[in-house]
Amino acid sequence: MVETVRTIQELRAVLKRWRQKGETVGLVPTMGGLHAGHLSLVRLSRAKTMRTCVTLFVNPKQFAPTEDLDTYPRDEDGDLAKLEAEGVDLVFQPGADEVYPAGYATSVHVGGLGDILEGEHRPGFFTGVATVVTKLLVQALPDIAVFGEKDYQQLLVIRRLTRDLDIPVRIESVPIVRDDDGLALSSRNAYLSDAERKTAPVLFGTLSQVAENVGRGANVAEQAEWGVDQLLHAGFAGVDYLCVRDADSLDEVSGASRPARVLAAATLGSTRLIDNVAV
Ligand code: AMP
Repeated sequence: MVETVRTIQELRAVLKRWRQKGETVGLVPTMGGLHAGHLSLVRLSRAKTMRTCVTLFVNPKQFAPTEDLDTYPRDEDGDLAKLEAEGVDLVFQPGADEVYPAGYATSVHVGGLGDILEGEHRPGFFTGVATVVTKLLVQALPDIAVFGEKDYQQLLVIRRLTRDLDIPVRIESVPIVRDDDGLALSSRNAYLSDAERKTAPVLFGTLSQVAENVGRGANVAEQAEWGVDQLLHAGFAGVDYLCVRDADSLDEVSGASRPARVLAAATLGSTRLIDNVAV
């Protein structure tokens, strides 16, 4: 079975062995409940480095008290079997006490980029993410760390924090892996009822249509409004945001003169889905 460690000390001991042999290291942080999207991150890391370490840690700091920390899909045995099959070298699976021992008091807040869109609708979310990712990067000091475009704003937040904090790591990204009908794979898709699962691909369909229209010069504000209507019409309970933003800064844009991204978060039943599409 794939080697698994649960403490920072053990993690560092394994990495030190690799480093002494001159081996390069890729880190793939996840919260487990692994699917093909996560595995594409693993494959990129394995293609680019000699050793790949995957972390499985459901980070309590990125869940609000009202959110699904206790019910978040967990499948330790299934995850380890998938990582073994992918040829992963090491799994780091710390407990919450290892990451946040008694007296823990420090957080990493990425201002601006971390306060809008997801940050606005999930207060504290990006601070939780930025804090745990900073800790994992400092614990492992990998050559690269791999993240998915599925969480596009998160990817930009992580790029920002590694630059701002001078963490010597290259952040690599992987395109969104989707089901055949377009729905972006997500651990939380397991929450959808059969009927909701049939409706869910409308999110990707709508974002794709908005991206295409904006790319052809359509009015950004009108397209965003049209997109929201489409989702509500299809049966989504609410739309937190659907917008077209600059692909690097997430600043508002009035057209597609620079690379742009259509991003949305919407609720289907009680499940909140996010997705994004390049213009
Ligand atoms: P999570 O376990 O949901 O926190 O995700 C761990 C990493 O996997 C993050 O970098 C996500 O962006 C990435 N990821 C999750 N779902 C997908 C997907 N469908 N396609 C590509 N990357 C994904």
